[in-house]
Amino acid sequence: MKYRLLVTLAAAVALIAPSAVATHAAAPAHAAPAFELPPLPYAPSALEPVIDTETMTLHHNKHHRAYVDALNTAVAADPALQGRALEDLVVTAGTLPTVVRNNAGGHWNHSFFWTTMTPAGQTGAASPELQAAIERQFGSMEAFQAAFNDAGTKRFGSGWAWLIVDGSGELAITSTPNQDNPLMDVAEVKGTPLMGNDVWEHAYYLKHQNRRADYLNAWWQVVDWNTVSQRYADAQ
Ligand code: MN
Repeated sequence: MKYRLLVTLAAAVALIAPSAVATHAAAPAHAAPAFELPPLPYAPSALEPVIDTETMTLHHNKHHRAYVDALNTAVAADPALQGRALEDLVVTAGTLPTVVRNNAGGHWNHSFFWTTMTPAGQTGAASPELQAAIERQFGSMEAFQAAFNDAGTKRFGSGWAWLIVDGSGELAITSTPNQDNPLMDVAEVKGTPLMGNDVWEHAYYLKHQNRRADYLNAWWQVVDWNTVSQRYADAQ
């Protein structure tokens, strides 16, 4: 009986071992690190009541994570994509499979979105340079915010509203469908994003239900003007 057991074990090892070796050998010698979900830069409750804790938790830990996971799956299946930086994928989105365009965009957009916001009371104000540019381009801060909200309201279905520095160095408001963004080669209006607001229903539905305009209005209470002003300075 002892001998028979050893033979059986040896046979089992022989069956398992080749596939284990093959799996190891198939791993790329220099596999690129997988894309990772960045931590929120504040507690999930920090933007209450504008963005409620449950929405923030689901949005970050479920929605954003799903984009990261799907992007990693798509990249792992396509050697031509491996080792490429996120922004490099984004700017060439039009040449990539739709699954990569959507999920690279989703990862970039949400990483940008979390850092565009900060708890009320820490938002600061637009730098004098950005304030002047907003007044020059839109007439006033109030007119700018109304136009930005309008872009978000009019985006049919799911997408984003953006403030960008366009190719001529001027501020512009634009909007993109799905998870596209103004860095993409496929964007109707291209430029460097300074702020972006997520107008997918998952961003606001639990608290604001169908009232996207309420969410857009409230969102200004948590815009991190210090970060947005720094992005404007960097884009000059
Ligand atoms: Mn979202």
